[in-house]
Amino acid sequence: MKFETKVIHAGIVPDPSTGAIMTPIFQTSTYVQDSPGQHKGFEYARTQNPTRNVLQENLAALENGKHGIAFASGLAAMDSILRLLKTGDEILSTNDLYGGSYRLMTKVFGEYGIKSHFVNMQDAEQVADKIGPNTKLIWIETPTNPLLNIVDIEAICAIAKEKGIMTCVDNTFASPYLQNPLDLGADIVLHSATKYIGGHSDLVLGAVITNNDSIAERLTFFQNAVGAVPGPQDCFLAIRGIKTLALRVERACDNAEKIADFLRNHENVAEVHYPGFADHPGHEVAKKQMKRFGAMISFSIKNDDLAKAQAVLSKTHYFSLAESLGGVESLIGHPSSMTHASIPREERMAVGLLDSTIRLSVGIEHVDDLIQDLAQALA
Ligand SMILES: *Cc1c(COP(=O)(O)O)cnc(C)c1O
Repeated sequence: MKFETKVIHAGIVPDPSTGAIMTPIFQTSTYVQDSPGQHKGFEYARTQNPTRNVLQENLAALENGKHGIAFASGLAAMDSILRLLKTGDEILSTNDLYGGSYRLMTKVFGEYGIKSHFVNMQDAEQVADKIGPNTKLIWIETPTNPLLNIVDIEAICAIAKEKGIMTCVDNTFASPYLQNPLDLGADIVLHSATKYIGGHSDLVLGAVITNNDSIAERLTFFQNAVGAVPGPQDCFLAIRGIKTLALRVERACDNAEKIADFLRNHENVAEVHYPGFADHPGHEVAKKQMKRFGAMISFSIKNDDLAKAQAVLSKTHYFSLAESLGGVESLIGHPSSMTHASIPREERMAVGLLDSTIRLSVGIEHVDDLIQDLAQALA
């Protein structure tokens, strides 16, 4: 089945009791049993919910995986993955990680004696050098947030596999339409389905996909034992959003290509980070592992002018100033004071996340309107 068909049909069948073509929202906390232990496979809704099951099957298919497990948020999904580790184990990760992931690793799991190390993962050799005897998980994010650096998933996973280290790819920025890490050797894929998968900025949800039966069994155990499960309404909204995933991402990528060119030629813009540029350091790897270059762009203002950046952020009309990404509507954000505020200034400056860096999540509006909006804000 091709991707465009999977989003509509994988794991989705009309409701057997009525023929309803849309997956019903099973808004129930419990299920009646015929006699103790005699039931239809559903006991309690933290453990099983039919709406959630459909979503999980569909998500697994989108990533060419065997098991999909849905959580209440992307970070709840990540929390369960990190619970696969024990005190003394270590994580190796990218040095320009999503702020919330950085916080979960350092401020939560760090307290339990699980140490995280952050390296420049664009350089596979640096990753190999930093692997220690206690490294048990390599955490990849690509394209990275917000600087759109590209990590070679296949190269890093090959290094990890040789040493028996588990790998997880945060595939939120690419979406399953553009990139499928399991096919490139990753053990686990994580999504904040809040973003492209949901696609309409109306839900918070996370997902994990894996082909590994024992990892899936552990994560399903945590899903129930820890209880960070999504409700049936949110599962339904995710299923509905997924149906247009391919169309939405295609259109957003078209728009992003044109907007990246516009920004690059603007006199008030310093650097534009977009992997679709032929001279972007990760361009070739992106071409190899992604279908297209995505719809996230970041850029900085000439002389790292924070006041000018703040003016731009307050002047756009169609680009709404907000956290998050991947919705149909375009968003604009200021990573250093918003999504990445928890990362110390010296650390973020060192990796090129400047005070004036602005991040765009390009939506599916008409590109002419989006460019006009940016032009008046940058003037
Ligand atoms: C938003 C995001 C997350 C966290 O997901 P939530 O659904 O907000 O918990 C993780 N990784 C990336 C790259 C994200 O953009």
